[in-house]
Amino acid sequence: MPDSSASLPSPADQPGELPQDVLIVGAGPAGLALACALADAGLQVTVLEQQSSERLAEPAPDGRDIALTHRARDVMRRLGLWQRLPEAEVAPIRAAHVSNANSPRFLRFDAQAADCEALGFLVPNHRLRRVAYEGALARGAAVRLLAGWQVREARVDGDAATVVAAPAQGDGPALTLRAPLLVAADSRFSITRRRLGIGANSRDFGRTVIVARLAHEREHDGTAHECFRLGNTLAILPMNDRQVSAVVTLRASEADAWMALPPQAFADRVAEQFGHRLGAMQMVGERHAYPLVAVYAHRFAAPRVALIGDAAVGMHPVTAHGYNFGLYGIEVLADLLDQARRAGRDLGAMATLAPFELEHRRVTLPIYLGTNLVVGLFTDDRPPARLVRDAVLAASDHLPPLKDAITRQLTGRRPGWMPDLRKLVAALPPLPPLPGRPTMPR
Ligand SMILES: Cc1cc2nc3c(=O)[nH]c(=O)nc-3n(C[C@H](O)[C@H](O)[C@H](O)COP(=O)(O)OP(=O)(O)OC[C@H]3O[C@@H](n4cnc5c(N)ncnc54)[C@H](O)[C@@H]3O)c2cc1C
Repeated sequence: MPDSSASLPSPADQPGELPQDVLIVGAGPAGLALACALADAGLQVTVLEQQSSERLAEPAPDGRDIALTHRARDVMRRLGLWQRLPEAEVAPIRAAHVSNANSPRFLRFDAQAADCEALGFLVPNHRLRRVAYEGALARGAAVRLLAGWQVREARVDGDAATVVAAPAQGDGPALTLRAPLLVAADSRFSITRRRLGIGANSRDFGRTVIVARLAHEREHDGTAHECFRLGNTLAILPMNDRQVSAVVTLRASEADAWMALPPQAFADRVAEQFGHRLGAMQMVGERHAYPLVAVYAHRFAAPRVALIGDAAVGMHPVTAHGYNFGLYGIEVLADLLDQARRAGRDLGAMATLAPFELEHRRVTLPIYLGTNLVVGLFTDDRPPARLVRDAVLAASDHLPPLKDAITRQLTGRRPGWMPDLRKLVAALPPLPPLPGRPTMPR
């Protein structure tokens, strides 16, 4: 049966009413972090999720260790989520080393050279999910979580968006909810996006990524390695307690064999592919496999609709931007909705949402296209492609402005010359309320 969080009202209440300012579909790390940001902006939020509240409260480890930028950490800090992470679960990345098959060329980035304590921070995904859930619960009545409901229909009728959900398990009557603004945060394969008629470009890389935690003998010094090998890609991410997160990208046809290896054979193979640089390795926990499909929605905003997290941009993980982009988008959208609420403007109007569309596209599109290009180049094992990647690595290492630009992407720090669109929007004089339905009365 569907459920809702202990302190929250029954999911079945007031079907068809407009009880909230914003309805979010998907209580993943993006949907829940947005709920926190909107609650802090004085809005009433409902989050609809297919998983049970027990699973949300205790998310199972999924093998993903997420590299977060400084900017993403700052967003999480402002939401009070970073402070909830156990210190032992946050691992700083002190340096990054990119190598190309058997070539002696490599590219190296150092936190010290970039004048910062770390290039980024690694945190297990299930921890991010958990703190986002705890943060949403801590917002009390401002966030209503309806768990155990699966969205089936989503549409916009004039002054409201409507969602119809059915119990995720078993039978039961459907639930209809309406709100001035609907946010889809239900993964890169978002049903809500689809039902709203918003298309997406997707690229199936025909590859699978296998992630696993490994313990090892020698110190890793906080260095992350990205090794573009012949036939596969191996990333070694430095975690705490002499452990690394291994990320192996393979042709989908080979992934089953790697997944079927006994745990020690898998660990030995990773150690061997890494040249035994960290000594012997042992598995810690389970392996997890993910098909690699990148997705970019045609629009991030439409009247009464916004897309956030992977529902907006589902990245290939090689450049570690997925959740970072989610958090950047949340910050921008929440600021705009905060300003709209203060000015008494319609939350779901395009005038409110258009700057989010523009800013999120400006930030994400170059990296999305660039990442796909890099993946294409670095997974092509033909000799011309290998020569080009050598040249790219050499050029990146010897051109300080290019290296600086990559470092800024890694850390999420904005260059001094780039204007902050949110500050520009905040500086605009308040617009009169738009015709149509105003913000929900409190
Ligand atoms: C191997 C791997 C490594 C990664 N590494 C990094 C990294 O280093 N750095 C980084 O920034 N990002 C990384 N990412 C990406 C990051 O994990 C995602 O961007 C992030 O988890 C997306 O969060 P989300 O909330 O948008 O979506 P999800 O986590 O997919 O959550 C969506 C939620 O919506 C719910 N839902 C789905 N459909 C429905 C429905 N019909 N009705 C109700 N609820 C629904 C789901 O149950 C789920 O709870 C990585 C991803 C992978 C696979």
